[in-house]
Amino acid sequence: MPVEAIAIDLQQERKEILKRYRKLLSSAKPYLQENDSKLIKQAFMMSMDAHKDMRRKSGEPYIYHPIAVAQICVEEIGLGGTSIICALLHDVVEDTEITLEQIEEKFGKKVAKIIDGLTKISGVFEHGSSQQAENFRKMLLTLSDDIRVILIKLADRLHNMRTLGSMARDKQLKISSETFYLYAPLAHRLGLHAIKSELEDLCLKYTEPEVYKDIAKKLKETKTSREKFIQNFIKPIDKGLQDLGFKHLIKGRPKSIYSIYNKLKKNNVPFDEIYDLFAVRVILDVPKEQEKGACWAVYSMVTDHYKPNPERLKDWISTPKSNGYESLHTTVMSSGKKGRWVEVQIRTTRMDEIAEKGFAAHWKYKGNDTRTNKAFESWLSQVREALDSSDKTTSAVELVDSIRSTLYNDEIFVYTPKGKLIVLKDGATALDFAFEIHTEVGARCIGAKVNNRLVPLGYKLKTGDMIECMTSNKQKPSEDWLNFVATTKAKSRIKDYIKEANKQHIVIGRDMVEHRLKILGINLLSLEVTNQLRAYFNVKDANDLFYRFGKGYIQLDELKKWKLDREAHERKQAAKTIQEPLTNTKNLVKELKKLHGDRKDADAILIGEDMDKLDYTLAKCCNPIAGDDVFGFVTINEGIKIHRTSCSNAPELLSRHGDRVLKAVWASKVQMSFTAHLIVRGTDRMGLMNDITRITSQELQVNIQNLSIEVREGIFEGKIALIVNNTEHLDQLIQKLEAVNGMVEIIRES
Ligand code: MN
Repeated sequence: MPVEAIAIDLQQERKEILKRYRKLLSSAKPYLQENDSKLIKQAFMMSMDAHKDMRRKSGEPYIYHPIAVAQICVEEIGLGGTSIICALLHDVVEDTEITLEQIEEKFGKKVAKIIDGLTKISGVFEHGSSQQAENFRKMLLTLSDDIRVILIKLADRLHNMRTLGSMARDKQLKISSETFYLYAPLAHRLGLHAIKSELEDLCLKYTEPEVYKDIAKKLKETKTSREKFIQNFIKPIDKGLQDLGFKHLIKGRPKSIYSIYNKLKKNNVPFDEIYDLFAVRVILDVPKEQEKGACWAVYSMVTDHYKPNPERLKDWISTPKSNGYESLHTTVMSSGKKGRWVEVQIRTTRMDEIAEKGFAAHWKYKGNDTRTNKAFESWLSQVREALDSSDKTTSAVELVDSIRSTLYNDEIFVYTPKGKLIVLKDGATALDFAFEIHTEVGARCIGAKVNNRLVPLGYKLKTGDMIECMTSNKQKPSEDWLNFVATTKAKSRIKDYIKEANKQHIVIGRDMVEHRLKILGINLLSLEVTNQLRAYFNVKDANDLFYRFGKGYIQLDELKKWKLDREAHERKQAAKTIQEPLTNTKNLVKELKKLHGDRKDADAILIGEDMDKLDYTLAKCCNPIAGDDVFGFVTINEGIKIHRTSCSNAPELLSRHGDRVLKAVWASKVQMSFTAHLIVRGTDRMGLMNDITRITSQELQVNIQNLSIEVREGIFEGKIALIVNNTEHLDQLIQKLEAVNGMVEIIRES
């Protein structure tokens, strides 16, 4: 950062801080209990003092951040006093001198516990795990005690995403990817619809800035005509609502940029052809007991005016979604010259608040819907299950994955013969049900009756099924059960059984190996030898190694071969100098800086110039070419790979292994050539092929490496691999090709 003296008007800043704090207090007022404001003030003073010398990357005083997080907690999630205190203090233990003990002394156990959950763990992590994953695990551990940890964390993340603009590019990518991979799904699971959409939009803004800007621009351009259309559309609905005598509100607004982006990508249609760019929402102010009738009355009125699409009626009032969402959706055809499909959402003020603010709002109205509470409880117990069953052999990354898999899943509701409701994840089988009832029932299960009909263990259950399990004492879990169970609980119970059964084979196998090694002259089965064997036979860990010997999967004679190979290898190694593997990202960055001196982007790989000093290659999955936005990724065995930030693997790499990501930029001086893959589609016109090759190879002198075409029902589709110098070069070519008569679209493959 340039060292520049910026005159900061401290007095002005102080005024601004107090202004923001007062705004927080006034929004919080309706949620506060008697003693709350005094404690909030203390928390504010403590946080202000602790962060007093800190500034954010943007240069603003740090305290703006905790105040903003608290403001989100109140305004957008609807949380109360304790959460405000925790939000104000959420960064002090991590970043300042203040300790958890001090917090507990002042604000009590509850607050200290929540803040502990919000404080990142620092330190070194085992290979294959990332700090992010470890922190996530810690956060989840406290989550099962107090859901507020995750709600405040989401508020924190939301504010960080809103202010991501002042961070460095690689940080932006890393944080956006994490957000997309974990936090947006979490927000979805907790029913925080507004926050989920905003997080997704912000992720798109930073990972694919061009696409984001393009959609935002188009939305702006079409704003006036869209608003006019909506006004005309809602006129008869508004009149109808007045006639029915409902106090109401009508909102018509575009869907989120991310959901439009998804539609464009999925349906492969241009922007103007997305018909349901916006949804019209009717919000009724009626008492709880009249809700259902009122919503259906409005539905009936709307469909008197506009013709509904019968396939798109969704009734989440009779059956709410598992994250608590309630609403009645219909898609109707607008009147006028050019009819358009418009989605109309009908709900009440209560349902709307739940849809926007999720579970926090739900609790406000609690006590009514046991089914939603049950679905949520069931999710929480899946999280607990995953946490309980993870041991040292489960990496934090695996754990995050298993929890992530619970986020987007819908539940099914099934019953025991006595009519007890059991919530299972969609895709669960009769065996999952058995394990849900009791571990022993699962382990001894030989089959089940679903609605009085005999079914196999792997039978997939549906909502409404009634299941009776049949057991036998002779039955025991087997490995292939893992192939068809869906729930975390069943999976970990089966694994436990198998592990127990395998223990015996491990002991036997170990004795056998030890004995044979003695014969071969190796007297000690040391950790080093064990590790060598493990690598040689390509097995996961020592137990697995001995288990395989014990079961006879690996023959003892193989040990002799291993010994000979090892001796040959040792001789070879002695001749060579030992080379450090390139897996330490921190050292790499140091090396890069040394290599580049004080040049701009000294900590980045300079693609094209560092070729002889660093082991890196361009990733095959996305084929980057000069000019693409890229990053470097340190792989375990294959050196550094350069990926496009738009690569389909990027979100996973960046979020799960952020610590192995390096900055990468293209050397501008060096001329390089790359293979780019295009898909061209057009009408099957005589001579089209000829035009393509003529423009490519003759006019633009671009080499075609490969070309294949297919014609189906009058549509021409070609795949071309070209040698180009950079994105500019490629764009030029695409522009020329787009002008060819009969060409419909050209897509660059990633
Ligand atoms: Mn923070």
